[in-house]
Amino acid sequence: MYAAAKAVLKPRRISEYVTAGEVSAAVLSKSGKIYTGVCIDTCSTLGICAERNAIFNMITNGENEIDKLLCIPPFEGKGAPCGACRELMVQLMPESYKDIKIMLDYSKGKVITLGEITPEWWIDY
Ligand SMILES: [Zn+2]
Repeated sequence: MYAAAKAVLKPRRISEYVTAGEVSAAVLSKSGKIYTGVCIDTCSTLGICAERNAIFNMITNGENEIDKLLCIPPFEGKGAPCGACRELMVQLMPESYKDIKIMLDYSKGKVITLGEITPEWWIDY
């Protein structure tokens, strides 16, 4: 997964208003396939996080379930998915989202579950 995410990690300016590839992510689906995505940053919040881009890539290819998520942030070290990415994963897998494994720190091999960082979902109430 790291190699797949690293392969698309290519920071670049696309236009005066758009940059991409400063963060990359890889999703391992339940079927065992890897889908990648990069962040796309724009004016007026039209962009997308690398994690959601990878998840949308998985959905585009007909899959709906995430087993693992890995993200390569712009700086070395750990990085957790933002609230919007967490919310998407919860809504995608409301019965089992807590089991999604997230590589929090690749250099240390630290893996957590989405349930650990998103223990109480607002729709559970
Ligand atoms: Zn995000």
